Amino acid sequence: MSKQQDEESRRVHREKMVREQLVRRGVSDERVLEAMLRVPRHAFTPTAEIDSAYEDRPVPLGPLQTISQPYMVALMSQAAMLPAGRSRVLEIGTGSGYSAAILAEMGAEVFTIEIVQPLAEEAAVRLNAMGYEQVHVRAGDGSLGWAEAGPFDAILVTAAPPHIPTEIRDQLRDGGRMIIPVGIAPDQELLCVVRRGDTFAEHRICAVRFVPMVGKVQPFQA
Ligand code: SAH
Repeated sequence: MSKQQDEESRRVHREKMVREQLVRRGVSDERVLEAMLRVPRHAFTPTAEIDSAYEDRPVPLGPLQTISQPYMVALMSQAAMLPAGRSRVLEIGTGSGYSAAILAEMGAEVFTIEIVQPLAEEAAVRLNAMGYEQVHVRAGDGSLGWAEAGPFDAILVTAAPPHIPTEIRDQLRDGGRMIIPVGIAPDQELLCVVRRGDTFAEHRICAVRFVPMVGKVQPFQA
């Protein structure tokens, strides 16, 4: 297949992914759907996994790392309810950089932290080569957040701590939302935490299965 035919066939897979995995399951935010149509997910998968890029499942990146299932990326991005215009978003768990690219396509300036240094470096190079200048990648333990860059309109956490880390939560701006998987597999739930002044309202979105957050928050798994 020529490179052009290849790109065309991937675009068709991407449209099918959006239609069958997202719209059919109730994702309706146009900004999310457009971003998921635009970002070439296959450019974020390891070469050996490139043909599974648009399948309805996570794609393995490393022993404790995956690119989340497309539906999960869409659900979290929708639940974040980013304000119109340029928003400020913190992501913990850069992985491949795919979800950071989706958030950037939705108009966010993204601050994203990855604890596995080579992954952080690869994601930074990839995002930069793709022109995502509004994504800032930091290598390190994200369990304390990125206070200097806050406060954030939204915080998306893509690795599960055993409980909500208050240091991260406190970096939400008033009215901001944090979407976070919490708990130890198989008992994890995706939570939405909304800040109102100094109070934080929590509600459960659904049961999920994420990789564990490692580092200070869960040192026994580091
Ligand atoms: N958003 C990613 C999914 C990555 S999976 C993507 O779209 O590809 C979760 C990631 O969280 C893994 O890469 C893992 O190494 C990272 N992680 C785990 N604990 C972390 C911590 N304390 N700080 C930052 N990153 C962490």
